[in-house]
Parts: sequence; C-alpha cells; structure tokens
Amino acid sequence: MNRQRVGFVGLGIMGGPMAGHLLSAGHDLTVFNRTPARCDPLLERGARVGASPRDVAAASDVVFICVSDTPDVEGVLFGPGGLAEGATAGSVIVDCSTISAEATAQFAARLARQGVALLDAPLTGGDIGARNGTLTVMVGGDAEAFERVRPLIECFGKRILHMGPSGAGQRTKMVNQIICALNVLGMAEGLAFAERCGMDLDKVLQVVTSGAAGSWALANYAPRIVRGDYAPGFPMHLQAKDLRLCLEEIRKLGGRFEGTALTERLFREAAESGLADQGTQGMINLLRRPG
Ligand code: NAP
Repeated sequence: MNRQRVGFVGLGIMGGPMAGHLLSAGHDLTVFNRTPARCDPLLERGARVGASPRDVAAASDVVFICVSDTPDVEGVLFGPGGLAEGATAGSVIVDCSTISAEATAQFAARLARQGVALLDAPLTGGDIGARNGTLTVMVGGDAEAFERVRPLIECFGKRILHMGPSGAGQRTKMVNQIICALNVLGMAEGLAFAERCGMDLDKVLQVVTSGAAGSWALANYAPRIVRGDYAPGFPMHLQAKDLRLCLEEIRKLGGRFEGTALTERLFREAAESGLADQGTQGMINLLRRPG
C-alpha cells in the first residue's frame, strides 16, 4: 500500500496502539493528544507531533479521531485550533470514538460544506483488539470515502463493515452495547443469586456455562468474578456512557426498550458510586450491596 499522510488525534487506551499500527505500516504519521506526554512513544518511533488538531489536519490527507464522548469530538473538530480549520477539500476524517449518531450526522453535514468527508467508525474488540490490530470496525458515511480509507483501517481492524449513511456505524455499536450490557447484567445477577443462596460458584458455573445460559459474558467474566478480578477489560464508566447514548437514540425512536433503560440506570449508578474504573464484571459488586 502507498505511503500516505495520516493523522491521529486521541492517543488513549485505544488510539495509542491504533496509531502505532498505522506507523508500523509505513505511513507518514502526525499525532496530537491533549496530554502531550502520551505522544512520546510514537514520537520516538518517528511520528511527528502537531501543536493542535488543526496542525494534524494540515499535514494529513486522512485523520483518525479516538476520544471519549460527543462534546470531545465536537471540540476536536470545530473548537479553536480544531481539525476543521486545517482540513482541505478532499480529505477524510474517520471518527473511531463511540458518540451520538445524530451529532455525527450533523458534524458530517457541516464538514461536507467544506468538501471534507466524515466517517463514523466505532470499534469493538477492546484494548486487546487495539494492541493486536484485530478490532471490528463498523463504518457509517460516504461509501466512496470509505473505500478510499479502508486499507488504512485494515492496519488495526480485522472485520470492517460499511453499515450505511452517516450515523449507521454508531447505531450498529449501540446494538452491540445493548446486547452486551443485558448479557453482563444477566450474568452478574445469576451469580449474585447463587452467592446469596450460599452455593459453590465454581460448581454452579460448571453446570450453567455449557447450557442455554451460556454466553460470552458468562464464559469470560464469571471466572474473573470467582477470582475476585475486577480489572477492566471494558470499564464501567464507558459502558454507562454508551448506554446513555443508546437511551438518547431510544427517546427519539420511541418503543419499549425497558432492558436498556434498566441497564443504563444500573451501570450509571455503579459508575457514580465507586465502581467507575472496574471492568463491567464489577456489576456484581453493585448487586452485592444490601437492597
Ligand atoms: P481513554 O484511554 O480514556 O482515552 C481517551 C482519549 O481521548 C485520550 O487521548 C484523551 O486525551 C482524549 N480526549 C478526551 N477528551 C478530550 C477532549 N475534550 N479534547 C481532546 N482530547 C480528548 O479512552 P479509550 O478507552 O481509548 O476510548 C476512546 C473511545 O473508544 C471512546 O469513545 C470509547 O467509548 C471507545 N471504545 C473504547 C473501548 C475500550 O475497551 N477501551 C472499546 C471500544 C470503544 P488525554 O490523554 O489528554 O486524556
């Protein structure tokens, strides 16, 4: 693949390794992170550091973003020194953050007026997928822009799908998060019940893991609960944020999404009461509290 001028804004748990893969693939990489020290490992490997997102856009044909939430993406795009100030017509911005689908479509329309394509490209696969370059990437936005940047996404993504117009990537991620959260809650509640009954968790898991109750959450998280391991994985505060985004969408759609409303309330309560940095398996610690 041709060497390209690529930018990356947001070098956190996900963005840092993703940018590293783009560099390893031989691209000409310019990065920006709000906390400058997080750029150092990439700087040592030959990346350039921009003084602002604007600098990154001015030095790049394609810019990736991976920051926390909707207002953060808005600030990176349109704030003072933002990408929009440096981006030239024909360039593509790929937002890998998990944010609002509606805001994404508004941002894309605003950037389209200056000839810049914005793709939403949220991720699943966690920190391990980011490090191994095996993420799943669900993309929304202009199909032609997607085909142009697909080889770059392949530097860190294994399964890459174009889901439809702007916001379709974010809505696909919402489907994923609704299913994951309800599964984690079911797993945690089953185990909390077994504990209250005074049962041997190891033995209970031998029975339930292989039957109809089996799930990814049960296979991967229940053994960690048995070991008392609440390290993230996927942190509680991000699950709470993602469910809040789902509820924002649901309020516009209408319909009975009561499981999502319940999990949003419980994950928010967990995140606000001392469990924010535990992995989502820490939901059981909320359920262990006296009712
Ligand atoms: P993280 O480690 O907390 O990193 C967040 C990054 O965003 C940092 O570089 C941070 O800069 C930057 N940032 C936040 N607010 C900003 C602002 N207002 N202006 C400029 N930069 C800002 O988070 P992460 O785990 O990499 O997650 C990033 C995105 O990926 C989130 O939307 C998350 O939901 C999604 N995601 C995460 C996972 C996961 O397992 N972690 C999995 C799938 C999707 P500083 O260094 O200055 O704080």
